[in-house]
Amino acid sequence: MNAQEQLKNISIREEHVPGAQSVRVWRRASQYLVILLLVLIPVTGLFRIDPMAGAFRLLDYQVWFSDIFIVMGFWLMVATGLIFMYSWAGSVFCGWVCPQNTISEWANTLTAKLLGRRALMMDVTGLKMQVARRKDAWMNKILLAIAFILVSMLFAIIPLLYFFPPDVIWSFLILQPVPDAENLLWIYSVCILVVLVDASVMRHLVCKYMCIYRIWQHSFKTRDTLHIAYDESRSDHCLNCTYCEDSCFLDIDPRQTLVFDSCINCGDCVAACDHLHSKSKKMKGPGLLSFAFGESGEKSNLGSLLSRTKTAGAVTLVGAFCFVLGIFSYEPYSMVVDRAQLMPGMTAQDYRINIANKRYQPTQLHLVVEGMPASMYRLEQTDVVIENAERKDVMLHFSQDLEKGLHRLTVHAESDDGWKKSFKVVYFSEGK
Ligand code: SF4
Ligand code: SF4
Repeated sequence: MNAQEQLKNISIREEHVPGAQSVRVWRRASQYLVILLLVLIPVTGLFRIDPMAGAFRLLDYQVWFSDIFIVMGFWLMVATGLIFMYSWAGSVFCGWVCPQNTISEWANTLTAKLLGRRALMMDVTGLKMQVARRKDAWMNKILLAIAFILVSMLFAIIPLLYFFPPDVIWSFLILQPVPDAENLLWIYSVCILVVLVDASVMRHLVCKYMCIYRIWQHSFKTRDTLHIAYDESRSDHCLNCTYCEDSCFLDIDPRQTLVFDSCINCGDCVAACDHLHSKSKKMKGPGLLSFAFGESGEKSNLGSLLSRTKTAGAVTLVGAFCFVLGIFSYEPYSMVVDRAQLMPGMTAQDYRINIANKRYQPTQLHLVVEGMPASMYRLEQTDVVIENAERKDVMLHFSQDLEKGLHRLTVHAESDDGWKKSFKVVYFSEGK
């Protein structure tokens, strides 16, 4: 039996090319792990957004934009980490990480299973969905619709977890009243609609025509970046064979990948060709496709990659330094003293001490005024209790008996857990 006859004997089902499954298992594990992490990050309180305070929440602490070292250091590390990934491994983010692609692949697989593979051939041309004749049953369509709705309802919970505490989301899901989140139903409905449209209609059209992030990734790619290499010296193995092409769910011919194509380095084609060669007695050696850095003939071009990413490496170190500095210099409370003249019922003799608790726990602070006789001012409160991550105003009233002129004083604040802050105030008294 010659090589081509042997090839014909290996069954090819486009969605399930046997060899491709081994890599796909790892890729699926990575994709589902990412989704699990996206859920665990807000649920464990590691990172959330506090929209009411306009701040980030890291564990039990609020991080404001003014905590510049933490914010800048964190984003520098994330941005340069991603640049490393694009420069070294190309668009692996799309294939192994991006939830948009995970949903699209899942929707494609389920559609192919229930309606046939031709049902996937929709595009912006407006081609009508072609349901395979033997699968054209209402039950299949209803099952597909139910699956899309249920998965959309599940996925739509994830963004909410970043803005609302898990107990609020849980109360909402079990239909309990949620007093501080009246708009939750609307927000959730919009999220469901977005995921539903994405899963049922858009899928990879988003990647192809709308994803700006993909273009950003491409700008870091060169031929040195990880890509699929083809061993042309043994191209006679490919006569009448399209096994790798059939395994590629992005319809690329893996023998001719380009720097700027849609390849996401999923590895399905490499595994498919290896599988083919392992089954064929005539085809000697490993498969013709492999992952490679650099031009054909060079298996590795690490030196070039290192020199291209050395700037990103230096910025990562700067980011890490800023982040650590930000953590060590972080202040869990803040105090500002300013004139309260414009507040309702206040006069030029009134000042406001604004204290913020950046921790998601109640706290108590003590206030002291120094530099002025006690008879010349009135402090509304000296012991101040502030609930979870809230602000409180304490008024400081100056006496009209103060001599005309400038008066310098200091407001000191100290918390039970040892935080101290002093704020200098210069007050101009008009005199009596
Ligand atoms: S590269 Fe491998 S799978 Fe692709 S056509 Fe050639 S022999 Fe077939
Ligand atoms: S060419 Fe190969 S690695 Fe690239 S997307 Fe297609 S199957 Fe995956």
